[in-house]
Amino acid sequence: MEMYVDCLGASREVGRSAFMLHTDKNIMLDYGMKIFDAAGAPTFPLHTDIKPDMMVLSHAHMDHSGCLPALYTNSKIRWYSTPPTRYISEVLWLDSQKIMGDGLPYQPHHFKKALKYWTPMLYKQPINTAETRIEMFDAGHISGSAMVDIEYRGKNFFYTGDFKCEETFMHKPAKFVDSIETLMIESTYAKKEHPPRKESEEKMMEEIYETIDNGGTALLPAFALGRTQELIALVRSYDKDIPVFVDGMGRDLTDIYLRYPQYIKDAKELRKAVKNITMVRYPADRRAATKDPGVIITSAGMMNGGPVLNYLFNVNSNSKVIFTGYCVEGTNGWLLQNNGTIMKDGSELNVDLPIRYIDLSAHAGRSDILNFIKNANPEKILLVHGDKPEEFATELKDDFGYDALAPLPGERVML
Ligand SMILES: [Zn+2]
Ligand SMILES: [Zn+2]
Repeated sequence: MEMYVDCLGASREVGRSAFMLHTDKNIMLDYGMKIFDAAGAPTFPLHTDIKPDMMVLSHAHMDHSGCLPALYTNSKIRWYSTPPTRYISEVLWLDSQKIMGDGLPYQPHHFKKALKYWTPMLYKQPINTAETRIEMFDAGHISGSAMVDIEYRGKNFFYTGDFKCEETFMHKPAKFVDSIETLMIESTYAKKEHPPRKESEEKMMEEIYETIDNGGTALLPAFALGRTQELIALVRSYDKDIPVFVDGMGRDLTDIYLRYPQYIKDAKELRKAVKNITMVRYPADRRAATKDPGVIITSAGMMNGGPVLNYLFNVNSNSKVIFTGYCVEGTNGWLLQNNGTIMKDGSELNVDLPIRYIDLSAHAGRSDILNFIKNANPEKILLVHGDKPEEFATELKDDFGYDALAPLPGERVML
């Protein structure tokens, strides 16, 4: 039987990762959604007539997991992920039901059905089905994130999902692999080098201290998943005393992080840090958070909803907004960084606070991606999860001699 992969999303775009790999099984790799396209609407994976036999989820971010329950509108397949991925996904799916409701391509009962068909898969504990062997490795991206190796009749297909090769407070770096036939690799930052981590961390603390010394609040819009936990650990590892408030969904997700200590680098440190911060639960906590100088870490990271918008208009004028992650064009986070405005209840409002951006990305930067490719030395490279991967594909071909391509949405690639 021939091996091929159908690219149903994250092809020449970031968002809605979904790939159907065909061996002697049809394996759906990720099934995500793009929460905002250029017009601000969600988009879902492309349709396929092929029925999957099983599903493997690399990690819980919505652009990989968001449409998984939609697979259960007409099937009863098993899906596999690490335990944190399953429990974090459940929290995110419930939240997306609240926000998107009827806009989702499935009903609440499909979500419940999906949870029944989950099977845990652990790092480096392969499963075999017919002649196909599947194994997961730590991707160093968020709790439970996995790179997936699929072997069939002596050939392998290695999918990186989202990965990071540099150590962070939460995770050890993803390990390089060798001898790969086909490498499907994320290319989010193929054209961009991240500054050294330590430099970003120190810059963050400088900005925080400067704000607090001026009597203001350092407001950190942060993705609830991954970034919030990283920022808690970062701030507390440098400073045991400054007041830190955490608001939004990050609270529940931090609980899951602590429930699976083996999936983070230093659970003891995170537990200690969490004990020494205020998890905002009540309106009184919210008022306390802006009363005195300090740090507020809150969702949403792109400022489209979440408690961050209230804080933005309640912090004093000596405060500062510090972004640490990617904001999609058109979102409030993007507007604020580019125009100094946000949209609230249909009108554009000016924000008179200094805005900073500090790169604390959870994705591999350019040299990590290149080093990963050189170590894997693959026969074929498929570039996915990137804005203009076709340019990087040309570079890999012309400068390094690799057989690299950036599949189009809907393209079938023979392996
Ligand atoms: Zn991710
Ligand atoms: Zn992603």
